[in-house]
Parts: sequence; C-alpha cells; structure tokens
Amino acid sequence: MIPGADEYDADVAIDEAEVERLLAASPDDVAAADELSFSRNVFVPLTTACRYTCTYCTYYDPPGQAELMTPEEVRETCRRGADAGCTEALFTFGDDPDDRYDEIYEQLADLGHDSIHSYLREACEIALEEGLLPHANPGDQTREQMAEVADVNASMGVMLETTADVRAHGGPRAKSPGQRLNTLDVAGELDVPFTTGILVGVGEDWRDRAESVLAIRAIHERHGHVQEVIVQPVVENERWDGGSPDLQTMRRVTAMARVGLPEEVSVQVPPNLAPARDLTDCGIDDLGGVSPVTEDHINPDYEWPALRELRAVADSAGVPLRERLPVYERYVDEAWCSDRIRAAIDADDDAGERFRAVLERGENSVPP
Ligand code: SF4
Repeated sequence: MIPGADEYDADVAIDEAEVERLLAASPDDVAAADELSFSRNVFVPLTTACRYTCTYCTYYDPPGQAELMTPEEVRETCRRGADAGCTEALFTFGDDPDDRYDEIYEQLADLGHDSIHSYLREACEIALEEGLLPHANPGDQTREQMAEVADVNASMGVMLETTADVRAHGGPRAKSPGQRLNTLDVAGELDVPFTTGILVGVGEDWRDRAESVLAIRAIHERHGHVQEVIVQPVVENERWDGGSPDLQTMRRVTAMARVGLPEEVSVQVPPNLAPARDLTDCGIDDLGGVSPVTEDHINPDYEWPALRELRAVADSAGVPLRERLPVYERYVDEAWCSDRIRAAIDADDDAGERFRAVLERGENSVPP
C-alpha cells in the first residue's frame, strides 16, 4: 500500500508482474529518441514559504526569511522573459505555507488575497498580459485549489518524487505520496495537461522507483493528461550531503521510466542536474526548460545550461533540437486548453505569433 493512499483517496493499483518487468529493464531495452525538445521559460518564484522541510531542498526559506514576490516583480520578470523570447512563465512554489508563515499571510492580505492560490491566479493573469503561457507548480493541491487556477495555466505540475516513505521527507512535516498522487489525479479530472517526475537518490530503492513509474502510468491511463515525466537526481547542496546517484543508476532508472511509461509521455532529464549526454540512449526525448534571464530558483547552485549546451546534447546524440511550448502540442485543442489559453495562442499580437511560430517550427530550426 502506498503511504497516504487511503487518507487521500489515491486509488492506484500496482501490478507485481509489471514491477518485475521494470526491475529487469536496462538501456538495452530502449531506443534513442529521434529528437530532443525543450521550452524557453522564465522562473517566477512566487513564494519560498513551504509547509514542508525536505532535507535535500534549498528552495524553501524558514519563517521570517521567506519571500513573496510582489505583482510588480512578477510583471517585471515576465516582461523580461517575453522580451527575451520565452514562451513560459514557470511559477515555482513551496507547498501551501502553513500557519508558521504569518508574514506571508499578512503580505497576501495587503495585496487583497486570502490564499496563495488566489494570488497565483492574479500572477498568472499578469503573465498572460505580458505574453507568456503560465505553468504553475504549487505543490499538493486540492480540487478546489487547482480549479481556482486551472483555466489560467497552459499546464501545471508537481513532482511525485517517490511512492516510498523516505526519511528525506520525514520528521513532523513529511509530505505524503498519497497526497501527491491525489493531486495528479485531480489534474486529470480537471483536464489539466500535467508534468510530474521522480526524484532519484533520496532513500528509495529500486522497487520504489518501479512502483513510482507505474503509479504515474496508472493515473495517466485514467485521464491521458501526463505530458512528461522528469527523471531527476538529487544533488549535493548546503542541506543535503547524502550523495547523488551515479551514472549507472541514472542510466538504469531512465530506461526504466521509458520502458514503464506509454510512448506519448515524454521522459525528461534536466541537463543542469543530470548527465544528459550520457542518457540520450536511455530513452529521453525532452530536456526541460532553459531560461535566458533568471537563475534556477529550485537549485541555485546549478545554473541552467545555455541554449548552446542543449544543442551540444542534441548534437552528441545526432538528433534535432526542437522548441516546444509549456503545453505539449497534442494538448493544444479545445478538449484540454481553456478558452483563455486558446485565446492567448490564437491572439493577433506578438505573443500569439511567438507561440504559433513554436508550434509551426520545423525540426532543427531553433533560432539562436
Ligand atoms: S522539495 Fe518542495 S515540498 Fe519539499 S521543502 Fe522543498 S519546496 Fe517544500
């Protein structure tokens, strides 16, 4: 039983034969992708307050030090991103600030909001006004919270990380795999194209990795909404000295994800954290986001590679590099995109032209 599955009504059955199949998977079982995709994004770290204290995370700040971006800062960041040719506003969050963060709630109240999701909605509106498609990662969300912002996001995401109960999430503030799976399920019920992923090296074992991939697959098969699964290694930083998975582990777990997931679901590795050049033959087909204007606020110790590094990864694999939007092309239709997002993509303005150019651009024609 996945921890928290009962409490959060996460109905996911794991087939033991499939676990065994994935445990036997290796890079020899997968084919290299025939192209690698990426998106141009700008980071908008809306709040660094988080109710959890994961031991590998440098993103969250403790009470008294956590920040909330002002609407003016959100607009300025989005404007710089749009000017630089980005298509995506990547809203990063800690998980729901709890009652430890009184000053965050006071700032929200000063801005006329009674919740972080209410403010997220305003921030997404600002991003759309500035010519970017929002992609928010607000951590665990209830159905009500996600419904409040679904129509102003082109896609959303949360890392499952693992279905295991690991000490790295532990202590009195442990996030629950069941709650993460419930968030993933809610996204499907609300027709939100979704990004999730697994975190490798935080205390999970090989069976946990296989079960995590299969849990994502089970929920995707229910709704068809998972556009990509990130395979991310934990990395050393000021809060984590537990080491990182070695190359052979990353190759095997990446191949496991490719074998375990449906073909239409992309497998992504972030080249700033993972040895992407040594994983291109393990089934990856996406390199995530590259940001020309801000640092990576999730892992500030690791700079996002420049676009030329993405080209170098693609060149080393001998495949084209293709830009995509934060919402994958197969979801750009009435069934998945809200009227707001469709209107932004269809708009007769510079932003609309930029979005359509990405959708229409042919292989290997990524401009500098
Ligand atoms: S990994 Fe996410 S949930 Fe955990 S402390 Fe960091 S921001 Fe919060």
